[in-house]
Amino acid sequence: MVHCWSQEQIRRAGSLRFRKADSARGVRIHDLSLEPLFTQTSCAVDCILASFSRESRVHIAGPRAKSILIHPRQTRPMVCRAFISVDMEGVNGVVSPDQATPGRRNYEFARRLMIREANAAVRGAYRGGATEVLVNDSHDGMLNLKREDIDGRAELISGSHKKYSMMEGLDDSFSCAMFVGYHSMASGWGVLSHTMSGHLSKVRVNNYPGSEGVLNAMLAGSMNVPVTLVCGDELAVGEVLEACPAARKVIVKNSIDRFAARNSALAEVENKIEEEAALAVSGAKNTEPFRPRPPIEVEIEFSQPSIARRANLSGLLEFRPPSSVIIRADNGHDAWVAFRGAISLAATARDPDYG
Ligand SMILES: [Zn+2]
Repeated sequence: MVHCWSQEQIRRAGSLRFRKADSARGVRIHDLSLEPLFTQTSCAVDCILASFSRESRVHIAGPRAKSILIHPRQTRPMVCRAFISVDMEGVNGVVSPDQATPGRRNYEFARRLMIREANAAVRGAYRGGATEVLVNDSHDGMLNLKREDIDGRAELISGSHKKYSMMEGLDDSFSCAMFVGYHSMASGWGVLSHTMSGHLSKVRVNNYPGSEGVLNAMLAGSMNVPVTLVCGDELAVGEVLEACPAARKVIVKNSIDRFAARNSALAEVENKIEEEAALAVSGAKNTEPFRPRPPIEVEIEFSQPSIARRANLSGLLEFRPPSSVIIRADNGHDAWVAFRGAISLAATARDPDYG
C-alpha cells in the first residue's frame, strides 16, 4: 500500500480520481488535480488525504496509473511543533533582582513584560508555520506566565520539579526550540548574569561558553532539535550564537552593567521577536542542532571549594582544585543531566550568609 508519494510521483500522476463512500448518496467519484502540488513536497498530499474519514480506494491517473488504498490512520498530517523556553532576566526592561524576584516590589511589572515577549514569539511561531506551540515557563519557580495571559492557542508548562527544567516538554518530535528572555553566563557583564544559580562562577562545555542558553541548546541537540531563535541582551545572544551560529537573534537591550541596561523601543522589540520567530520556525529544517563533539567535557567552577566537594559527593566526577568539577559524557543529554545533578547537590552546601 502506498500512502506517500515523492514529488516526482506527484508530477507523473497529474490528477487523482477517488471513490468515497457516502451513506446518504452512495459511492461518489471525486477528481482532484494535483497541479497545485507540483511545487510542494509529498507531505502536502498526505495532508489532503488525511481529511478522508474512512478507507478510500484511490486511482492515480497518468502514465503510471495504479490503484492504491488509503486509510486515514496511514496518512500523516503535516505537523510542526515549536518549543519556546521563556526566562525573565533577558527581557527588555528587566535589569534588577527587585524586578526578577517574585514577591518583590517591581516583580509584577517585569512579569507583564515577560508575558508580552512570550506572546510575540508565539504569534511569530504560528505565522512561520507552527501547528503546535509549547511554552515552558523557565524562570525562578516557573510560575510567572499566567495561563489566561498567554496566547490561547499555545500550551503552557508551569511550575518546577521538572526533569528538564527550562527545557521540560521538549522531545524529538519538535521542529525547533526558541529562547526568549535569556541572560548571559555567570562572571560576565551581562544583565543579571548567572548560570542556573548563584553558586556557580563559570561553566565551559568543550570550547563553548557554558551559559544556560548553550547548555540548553546542547540538550535540544541531543534530541536532534535545533535552537533557531535567541532573544536577550547582546552578551546572552552572542554566547548562544557561538554554539548555534544559524539561530535568528533579537537583542532586546544592551548591557551597561550587571544591573543596568539601555532597553530598545518596546514596540520595535515585540515586532522583531514576532518576525524573527516566524523565520525561526519556517527555516528550522535547514538549521543544524548543536551537538558538541564527544567526549563532552563540562567544567563547573563553583564560588567555594567546599561547594565543589559537595557537588562531587558521588565521587563519579573529577575534582579539579581549588573549586571545580569536571563532567565527562558521550552525549549532550547525559552531560546536561549530570550537570543538573551536580549543581543541585552543590546547592545543599551553600550557607545563606557566607555563600
Ligand atoms: Zn531566570
